[in-house]
Amino acid sequence: MSSAELAIEVNSDRYDSTSLTAADSEVESDPDAPSPPPEPASVDDAIANATPERLRIALRAVLRKNEAAREIASRILLVSETTTATGKRKRYETCKNCKEEYDVQVNEKGFCVYHPGSKSVNEESKFWEYHRYEMYGEPCLLLNEPMFEEGMCWDCCEQNMSAEGCRTNRHKPAPAKKARVL
Ligand SMILES: [Zn+2]
Ligand SMILES: [Zn+2]
Repeated sequence: MSSAELAIEVNSDRYDSTSLTAADSEVESDPDAPSPPPEPASVDDAIANATPERLRIALRAVLRKNEAAREIASRILLVSETTTATGKRKRYETCKNCKEEYDVQVNEKGFCVYHPGSKSVNEESKFWEYHRYEMYGEPCLLLNEPMFEEGMCWDCCEQNMSAEGCRTNRHKPAPAKKARVL
């Protein structure tokens, strides 16, 4: 029985001696009614379908209760590094070359694609033919203005700013930020 048919039947029963509740229980025993959704097969399935936020909540709850689990988690999320003061280093670093986050344990040659050079004025670009110097000034002073990006290039390869990196390497960690005294 379709849900539309069901609705009609429930409506026509409304003023009968049988109450809506009776009609409802009749619906439940209908052999054609869809079966209830299956129970999650395992916690693995639940993990596969959970949001990162829910997984974080679950992981924190487990770590609060279980010291062994805490050790496993810190082994996965932190790697040993004897050269630092704390003896631990973050597993994920931000690369100083491509500015992307990477896993320090999975970092091979070719993973990092970047430009070793910096942004400079593309003197050859037609973009500057119509440049209004009296209004905007020298192109070399406009390096940080997004409006003039089209007239800029990477000085390592002279490709435009959106071009894919001209050099590949492994990722390199950005140097730790030092407190600066002004
Ligand atoms: Zn380049
Ligand atoms: Zn990189």
